[in-house]
Amino acid sequence: MTHFPLPRADLATPALLLDVAAMDRNIAAMAEFARTRGLALRPHAKTHKSSEIAKRQIAAGAVGICCAKLGEAEALAADGVGDIHLTSPVVTRDGIARLTALAGKIGLSVVADHPDVVRALAGCGATIFVDVDPGKHRTGVTSPEAAVALARTIIEAGLPLGGVQYYCGSEQHITHLSDRHAAISEKTDYLRTVLAALADAGFAIPVVTGAGTGTFAIDAELGVLTELQVGSYIFLDREYRDCELAGPSFEQALWVDSTVVSANTPGMVTIDAGLKSFATDAGVPVPLSGSARYAFMGDEQGALFGEALPALAERVTLVPPHCDPTVNLYDRYWLVAGETVTGAWPVTARGRST
Ligand code: PLP
Ligand code: MN
Repeated sequence: MTHFPLPRADLATPALLLDVAAMDRNIAAMAEFARTRGLALRPHAKTHKSSEIAKRQIAAGAVGICCAKLGEAEALAADGVGDIHLTSPVVTRDGIARLTALAGKIGLSVVADHPDVVRALAGCGATIFVDVDPGKHRTGVTSPEAAVALARTIIEAGLPLGGVQYYCGSEQHITHLSDRHAAISEKTDYLRTVLAALADAGFAIPVVTGAGTGTFAIDAELGVLTELQVGSYIFLDREYRDCELAGPSFEQALWVDSTVVSANTPGMVTIDAGLKSFATDAGVPVPLSGSARYAFMGDEQGALFGEALPALAERVTLVPPHCDPTVNLYDRYWLVAGETVTGAWPVTARGRST
């Protein structure tokens, strides 16, 4: 049993730290942005996997949350989150049985991109969104005609048509704002043709959901989306720190604290945070302060190179390269206010990727 408050320096490392005050300011800033633009906010909980954080987002004005996977949604629903949109398709018989059970307990919607799946979803109790592929070919229907055909199948199956999902993942991290603006404008032109085809065929599309932290302000300006699925804005990470973001400014709220465990070589030290402590898809973490450079040194360790390095047994705070898959590596967030740990929250849906 851990008793709070406790000094941050007493935490065993590597430790995932959350500055709750900074996160709450990020939540409030995004909620205010959506409110003033007349947009619904449905933040993506794949970033934090935490029922506490989901409830704070909803208390600040979000209409509900998104989940990426059924297991994530089941875990957050069991902890009191009552309105969830699933942004990935559910296609297996077992998955649809679980979806049906969940839809009996909470408000639930799910994307689909194939008529066979829509027919299998008949009677599931969830609202169905037409997932539209923006060109990356991850999921989604690949033409306006296919979107119309899928909408028709949804209605024929007796299912409620919730609207359209259009998530442009590849555009989120384009470094320069003007390049990102041009890219998402072009993608939005295509979305307009899909929505026009649906309207011409007589389908009402109440919700057009999409956007991430890199494009939401541009999406709001373009005026086609009605709902924002932003995720990473609550924490930020090194990848987003390196992007020229638009809209309200967000603060870095998530760190990993580590400890120097070896310092026998001039110009470098070894810390206790390696491949198991950070997502590895987006480059390396960076120390929060100073100019040292990090390099992975295997599963359990990393190296810091530079001039002014911390000494043996000293602490180092790092900004994770990519927040969502980093959070999934930890059981809990330690809540910090400066050098004090004020509490801990479980990563409720950690590892719930099925
Ligand atoms: N919507 C979907 C479907 C996603 O996959 C993601 C993240 O990958 C998001 C929204 C949130 O994007 P971000 O974390 O960049 O805000
Ligand atoms: Mn991400």
